Amino acid sequence: MALNKERIAQVLRGIENPAADGDLVTSGALQWIAWCDTYGSVKLHMPGGVAAPAMDRLARVIRGAIEAEAAREGGKVDSLTVEYVDDAGTVVHTSSSGAFTGGTGRGAPGGGPEGGHRPIGGLASGGGGSGGVGGVGGVGGVGGGASRVIAVGAGKGGVGKSTVAVNLAVGLARRGRSVGLLDGDIYGPSLPTMLGLRSMEQAVVGGKLVPFRAHGVKAVTIGSLVDAEKPLIWRGPMAHGAFKQLLEQTAWGELDDLIIDLPPGTGDVSLTMAQQLRLTGAVVVCTPQRVAQDDAVRAARMFQQLGIEVLGVVENMSSFIGDDGKEYDLFGKGGAELMAQRLGVPFLGALPITMSLRVHSDSGDPSANFTGTDAAGRRLSAALEAVVSNVEAQAALAAMRAGAAAPTLTVS
Ligand code: ADP
Repeated sequence: MALNKERIAQVLRGIENPAADGDLVTSGALQWIAWCDTYGSVKLHMPGGVAAPAMDRLARVIRGAIEAEAAREGGKVDSLTVEYVDDAGTVVHTSSSGAFTGGTGRGAPGGGPEGGHRPIGGLASGGGGSGGVGGVGGVGGVGGGASRVIAVGAGKGGVGKSTVAVNLAVGLARRGRSVGLLDGDIYGPSLPTMLGLRSMEQAVVGGKLVPFRAHGVKAVTIGSLVDAEKPLIWRGPMAHGAFKQLLEQTAWGELDDLIIDLPPGTGDVSLTMAQQLRLTGAVVVCTPQRVAQDDAVRAARMFQQLGIEVLGVVENMSSFIGDDGKEYDLFGKGGAELMAQRLGVPFLGALPITMSLRVHSDSGDPSANFTGTDAAGRRLSAALEAVVSNVEAQAALAAMRAGAAAPTLTVS
């Protein structure tokens, strides 16, 4: 059996709490465990506090024990974050394995040349001792009861995840909502192209990133912080840090909805997101082919494992619609709908392949997808509007189900 939360809890039962009687579980120190693929996170509360070096020492012991447990079945641990919280649940210290260790919990990327990631000059350190919480605390209106945080994920690349994220954001903005779009696809940010961001000069005011404004959407992207020509190769902890930086250190202002475009597949960034945010839910994008569905099922399961509600599945590239409005069933449309049924999650609609959608994405004009006048354009805009409506409806239901625990952009 692969490593999971229960087995990690068992491991922690075998580790003494240096600050109290008993082990880390029976002493009440353990607050939270998350595990996904080879990435893990453990949150501990040590009443009375423990000195930083002792926290790092304990984190090393925890990592060693979890690695040993993973290795029993040939598994491994790529990254493990141990966060320490105070009585109020605020993170006071983070110890991460891998490229960055110890520190304030700000999750600064671990440097190194691979990613071509430039440190962002002049950014605030994010709330002093509260380690990164300051940035999120500063995110204005997303904390309000009406606001929603929706992640868009996919099992693999190239299925149209970013296309859906961008058009969902633009569609919601066209309905009068205040929408933020976070390009969390840090391995291949496509938002600068898709939103037609002409100047990639990232403005920083008061130590915070100022989102770009395009098509009624406020957007931030790692694409504005890296060298576009260089491949983005992040180690797990660096990805974690880059994502946190975008999330926490952006001056979002008042937002109704925050849409997060995740990297494809499962792993580090999704885990970071689940640690940082209480999401309204996630949308899974899939193409109709069987092979794509298997990956999408894995992505949906990952969200569920992380405690994120799956709002539903969007089938992209469902069929091809020519400029004359004629429809061709290239990939066997309906596959994603069957998959949604199998998973027991809502089907949010199907988007056709159209020349115009590809052209508008490449030319950075997503608004034009909603105003097409020829046969194919009208069908595309109707399909997009249906997806936006369905996501809105499912998000509203999910927020209602969450009840008093309405999603907020606070670090849990
Ligand atoms: P992902 O985020 O899953 O990697 P993208 O959204 O970047 O995928 O889409 C990959 C490419 O396919 C882009 O060039 C995009 O414009 C194009 N594309 C995506 N969906 C469609 C569609 N329904 N019709 C036409 N082109 C599409």
